[in-house]
Amino acid sequence: MPEFPPAIAQYFDCINNERWDAFPEVWAADAELVGVGGHHYRGRENVLGYYPPVLAPFPVHFDDAYTCYADGDVYTVEIEFRGETHEGTPVSFEAVDVFTLRDGKIGRLTTWYDVDAVRDAARRPGPRETRIRRVIERAASRSPFYQGRGLDPDAELSSLPTTTEADVLGDPAAFATTAGPAVARLTWLDGQGALPLTHGDAYDEVRMLRLALETAGAKRGEIVASLGIPGFEAAVAATGATLLSGGGSGTVEVSILAPAETGPLGVECAQGQLHLLADDHVLEVIDGRLVTTPLCRRGAPLLRYATSESGSLVDGQCACGSPLPRFARA
Ligand SMILES: [Zn+2]
Repeated sequence: MPEFPPAIAQYFDCINNERWDAFPEVWAADAELVGVGGHHYRGRENVLGYYPPVLAPFPVHFDDAYTCYADGDVYTVEIEFRGETHEGTPVSFEAVDVFTLRDGKIGRLTTWYDVDAVRDAARRPGPRETRIRRVIERAASRSPFYQGRGLDPDAELSSLPTTTEADVLGDPAAFATTAGPAVARLTWLDGQGALPLTHGDAYDEVRMLRLALETAGAKRGEIVASLGIPGFEAAVAATGATLLSGGGSGTVEVSILAPAETGPLGVECAQGQLHLLADDHVLEVIDGRLVTTPLCRRGAPLLRYATSESGSLVDGQCACGSPLPRFARA
């Protein structure tokens, strides 16, 4: 570690070890912080409030401050951030912090990094087993419906009873694990209430729709008619294809199976085969019924949800070349 003035050394010690009790000491009372994207915090209390939410997605994090350039009271520090998300995805990125010291305390800090790249990295799915555990833990700790069932947070998914459409339609609010500004969108259930999606869920939905669209053949130069489902337009843009809204048919036929309760589940390829968005679902066939545990519905987790679809899994590789497994609707 390079030579730092004590306040800056203590700053990194506090962040890396989450010593929030000692953190106020390093700041001047009238300190200010300018974050990327124009966020401006004035006064020590407001500055301190910046940190916990920024670090919240990273239960494991370390700011490796590897160079420090001094010019009078201004210190420019290059940092490699290394961390891990709740789902176990490793994330690292470069950042630059510019500190201005006053009387040995931090009077001003501007901090720079690529916000979009960090957000994308933080939302990259983690290992499948970890994601399944997180869904079960979240349902057990925050869903009134699953709490009512006495769900054990350490239970194996395959040991759990299924959840039925009647369970969900009977009391959709009992499945909600989030409220207020943490809700990005509500998904309406046929006039019988709604389930909330978190901002992460809404982001994942666009990622899943993009994969579905690419599997259907959407790419630059193709025209895709709008299906009017949330996130669809953003997903079309991400493929590079052109969106056609207001009716008419595009150059690519897109047929996506997306029950309101579970989000996008499958997509038809050019061979007319139904492919499963397998990374984001644990799909089972129980008594001929498609049963899924969606991994991207944190706002209203569903464990082994028995959809209204009957079907079966299909073995072997599809002629379209997609690596996604196939299934068939009965
Ligand atoms: Zn195919």
